[in-house]
Amino acid sequence: MNLKDYVTIVQDYPKEGIRFKDISTIMDNGQAYKFATDEIVKFAKEVGTDIIVGPEARGFIIGCPVAYALEVGFAPVRKPGKLPREIISVEYDLEYGKDTLTIHKDAIKPGQRVLIVDDLLATGGTVGATIELVEKLGGIVAGCAFIIELSYLNGHEKLQGYNKRALITY
Ligand code: IMP
Repeated sequence: MNLKDYVTIVQDYPKEGIRFKDISTIMDNGQAYKFATDEIVKFAKEVGTDIIVGPEARGFIIGCPVAYALEVGFAPVRKPGKLPREIISVEYDLEYGKDTLTIHKDAIKPGQRVLIVDDLLATGGTVGATIELVEKLGGIVAGCAFIIELSYLNGHEKLQGYNKRALITY
């Protein structure tokens, strides 16, 4: 299956000049969604995975079916104010300004092998902050998996030394 055929490119969303890669047209096709999930499951098995971590919101959509297939847990990474119990947080740079991501303090046990899953790797800010959260909790980042990588935004530079898999590259 050529997964790229199922991505919809939306011109000028969310701002003029941006060509947004919409993966909702992968998810609303049962076969494409299963294919994408299965490919990430294969990678998860290759690198050895005890738990999946995914940043909100599309990291949940991709990460949860992978966790289900592997029969491992899923830990959400969320924006501030969304997780109800004790958290740790990491601040990271955006193009203009800063953002913060949080995770429950007990979500990962030291030494667990963590697969980070998100829909898309752009500048690597989101995955970089997620790696920091996982490592602060003593987790080992076994790998990072994405449906799409926008290679021209150089997110891979933040992933040097980590296992990375992207199913589609632009
Ligand atoms: P980064 O932090 O710059 O690597 O951006 C990655 C994050 O932004 C991911 O969590 C994506 O969900 C989101 N994102 C950025 N560009 C796109 C896009 O074209 N399509 C879908 N999500 C995007």
